[in-house]
Amino acid sequence: MPLPARGETDINAQLDAGLIQVDGTVDYALSDPERQAIHELYALYDQLLGEPNPRLDMEALSACNDALHNAYDQVQKGGRLKSMRGSLLRAVRECPLCGAAPATTLDHHLPRAQYKSLAINPRNLVPSCQPCNRAKGTVVPSAGQGMVHAYFQALPTATFLRATSSYIDGALAISFYIDDTVVPSPLHERLTFQLTRLNLDERLVDSINIMLFTLKPSLEMFRGLANERAQIQEYLRGAARSYNKDFAWNHWRSAVVLSLSECDAFLDDPWTYLDKPLILTEALEEDVG
Ligand SMILES: [Zn+2]
Repeated sequence: MPLPARGETDINAQLDAGLIQVDGTVDYALSDPERQAIHELYALYDQLLGEPNPRLDMEALSACNDALHNAYDQVQKGGRLKSMRGSLLRAVRECPLCGAAPATTLDHHLPRAQYKSLAINPRNLVPSCQPCNRAKGTVVPSAGQGMVHAYFQALPTATFLRATSSYIDGALAISFYIDDTVVPSPLHERLTFQLTRLNLDERLVDSINIMLFTLKPSLEMFRGLANERAQIQEYLRGAARSYNKDFAWNHWRSAVVLSLSECDAFLDDPWTYLDKPLILTEALEEDVG
């Protein structure tokens, strides 16, 4: 994911927009040493790749912490930092955490309540969909847990997001996992934590069903052919390569289709599943109010 742009004037302009109202009323007047300390804090955050560290808790910022925390209100829709919000959200095609919904919110990688002085640091604001943002909550990265930083974490180029498909009597269950032969510890633990924390196995069920029903008309072409099974397997492999081009191998779409291309039970009889009506789990939830 592209790093949000940063320069001397950007930081100062962002601080001014966050702390000074349109009519010139100053919510908090930063002293020069405080302003300098914020520049140092942001540089330290980059140097630490967004990992928590006691050095981020700067004594020099104790008086302005709350003002910086509250300045995040200006990053909300219609706020004075709304252009920063827009440029952060526009930088991604979809939520980088799940890859299944548009990013409509900003998530504080290091939680705002605990890291007040980083509240409007754009490098700490990661675009995400609302369900991912809510599921992530205020988790702070530590050994073996926490979210992977979308701006800073270098990931292997090899395929590490895998899925297992189980298929019984036309019922399809997909489960994601991180291949530990590709991703070593501790990154393996963190990515696994992220998968579990975001509950992607459950949350992606509707998206997976929609994707597979979108493929159904193409799969129909092979129905009843003598080599139906081989054709369907080849088609699914091709679909995985195509999704990889559009989304990457470590995207749930590629992982699911690849996994189905290796699932004997599905290849033997995809039709019991595909001939059922598409019912989305969201439609099964009870109405509220
Ligand atoms: Zn998401």
